[in-house]
Amino acid sequence: MSSATTSSLTRVAIGGILHETHTFMEKGTTLADFAAQSLHFGDDLLSSMRGARSGIGGMIDRALEYDWQLLPTLYAAAMPAGVVTEAAYRKLLSELRNRLAQRMPLDGLLLALHGAMVAEGELDAEADIVAQARAIVGDGVPIVVLLDMHGNISPRLVELADVLLAYDTNPHIDAYARGLDAAEIMARLLRRELQPTSAYARPALLLPAQSTGTEAAPLSSVHARAAEIKADDKVISIAVMAGFAYADTPFTGPSIIATTDNQPQLAQNYAKELSDLLYRHRQSAQPTFLQPAAAVAEAQRFTGGPVILVDSADNIGGGTTGDGADALAAMLAQNIQEGTIVLADPEAVALCWRAGLGTELTLAVGGKVDDWHGKPVSVTGVVRALSDGVFECELPDNHFASFYGDTVHMGRSVWLRAGGVNILLTERKTPPLDLAQLRHIGINPETQSMIVVKSAVAWRAAYLPIASATIEMDTAGLCSANLSRFPYQNLKRPVFPLD
Ligand SMILES: [Zn+2]
Repeated sequence: MSSATTSSLTRVAIGGILHETHTFMEKGTTLADFAAQSLHFGDDLLSSMRGARSGIGGMIDRALEYDWQLLPTLYAAAMPAGVVTEAAYRKLLSELRNRLAQRMPLDGLLLALHGAMVAEGELDAEADIVAQARAIVGDGVPIVVLLDMHGNISPRLVELADVLLAYDTNPHIDAYARGLDAAEIMARLLRRELQPTSAYARPALLLPAQSTGTEAAPLSSVHARAAEIKADDKVISIAVMAGFAYADTPFTGPSIIATTDNQPQLAQNYAKELSDLLYRHRQSAQPTFLQPAAAVAEAQRFTGGPVILVDSADNIGGGTTGDGADALAAMLAQNIQEGTIVLADPEAVALCWRAGLGTELTLAVGGKVDDWHGKPVSVTGVVRALSDGVFECELPDNHFASFYGDTVHMGRSVWLRAGGVNILLTERKTPPLDLAQLRHIGINPETQSMIVVKSAVAWRAAYLPIASATIEMDTAGLCSANLSRFPYQNLKRPVFPLD
């Protein structure tokens, strides 16, 4: 082929910037945090993310099947944490802008964004990103954006993008498939087969993260109806957004984005219908939980295996401290025999190591990292065991393997026995994903009367098989399902269930 033929190829740029921002977390998210998870520029983006089971992986794989020149910009993703620093945000934006400018003229732009990213000085990061991209590529060039369904979406973002689509599942098992869809929609836009018209509707509602599973109420019924709507061949995309309640912005909460082929009224009708449907199911979105003292009292009614006391407010996988001790205080106050809790507390670990095996000591444990996870609890206990905190997972397919590998390192660890309560103190916070975490230091999970787990959902694989019952607690923590604990300032009020 001659170079003249090559230059007439359809030119599609691709990129992504993803962050789920918990605006109440104090520690900001830096460029180093992006680099620690996923930060790729230019051709490195294609070689690293091609075939990945993620949204961008799906976009790339399908795009490569078309007769396009695929032009990578950047891909940046970091673990959920506090507000993205101004320096990090500026760097990511300027990389995107510069690389788009170098690639001009463009025929299309594919973007993977989260939807719940907040940067210093920018509450609507995704709209800002698309606005900046739009300013470079021009009005006639289609921009297709794939979102995480936990995004908080503004009307401005809906105006700026040609088509928005989102994952339909939580856990997000369809990210790759939706990435394929995004590239297919781009192909149809480039062939001028579609004239997208989008509508946006939002119920006055907040969903705690614990209520955003797509297989359960309230989202399951919305997705069931959305699936019927998608069968309409005038519909290009229906994005059912659950929102992310821990990002305090003026558009935080669930929303529906309906995109039709040149049928604006139809898009409006569908968006409104689904938004109203979600609002009608709002009561089922309210998790039921007990105060720690009531949960510990209730747990004593069960026999035949440990009761799992779920401390999802201190959900380590969601970025919390892992040192919330509310449930420990409740177990000690009620003189529980064989109750277990794991706390990340390097200071307490050091004290116990210094005291030595078999020593009795009084010390404050937990509640030390920030003001969000309750207060330290004073305990008097005996050091029953000391360990290096290294253990091999028992579960063959566990979440640890994907995050940490099969060998887990918790740092120096201590089994402190206070009355009848077993406290596993670790230097590093470690989610409750495998029973070997307790067993490695001598605590037998099966013979406990109750075990506190600091996780929303991920604990289930290891602990449900041995559990006699499960009780959700209303503890202090940055991932609390009790949204009245958070001092919102930007949120649009009134909103259910706060007002
Ligand atoms: Zn998500």
